[in-house]
Amino acid sequence: MKSPFSLCAKGEQLLVESINFSEDHCIVRVRVSNHLLKTSQIEGFADYLLEELPGLSNHHCHNYNNQPFTQELKDTELAHVLEHVLIELITLKDKSIRNLAGSTAWNWRESPRGTYDVEIACTNKYVVKETLAQSIALIASIAHRAKETLPVFNNAGATILAPIPAHAFSN
Ligand SMILES: [Zn+2]
Repeated sequence: MKSPFSLCAKGEQLLVESINFSEDHCIVRVRVSNHLLKTSQIEGFADYLLEELPGLSNHHCHNYNNQPFTQELKDTELAHVLEHVLIELITLKDKSIRNLAGSTAWNWRESPRGTYDVEIACTNKYVVKETLAQSIALIASIAHRAKETLPVFNNAGATILAPIPAHAFSN
């Protein structure tokens, strides 16, 4: 069962399909309706996000080009952004958590294009649920803000933001 609930930019949807908890981590499976959408296509996105969450500039990131996250943020997948925003918000919420690990993976031979598994080393369901909703709301609002500065986005569809459906949570 798909649980579409959020639009991010240009009428693109970011859907949370499931959230699975195991002993030492959780995996949030999301699907981005436009699998080619990257932050570089949303002008100003990286700057706005860093303004909202300056702590992101201290994040470590293992990426293909081995570049700092602030650089990577300028041209990366929205699911990867979600991973880092989640980590940042969880860390801000619970100061006792340090160096929270995360990763974003995809395999579109096995799952539909645009499907990503965002893994976070957090098993607190309440914290994950709350910060996931906040993370997506933040990403959506920043994409919308960036949109307002860009004439190319003038024809974007209606924007909707709704809560995460309860059935997205398993276990
Ligand atoms: Zn990263």
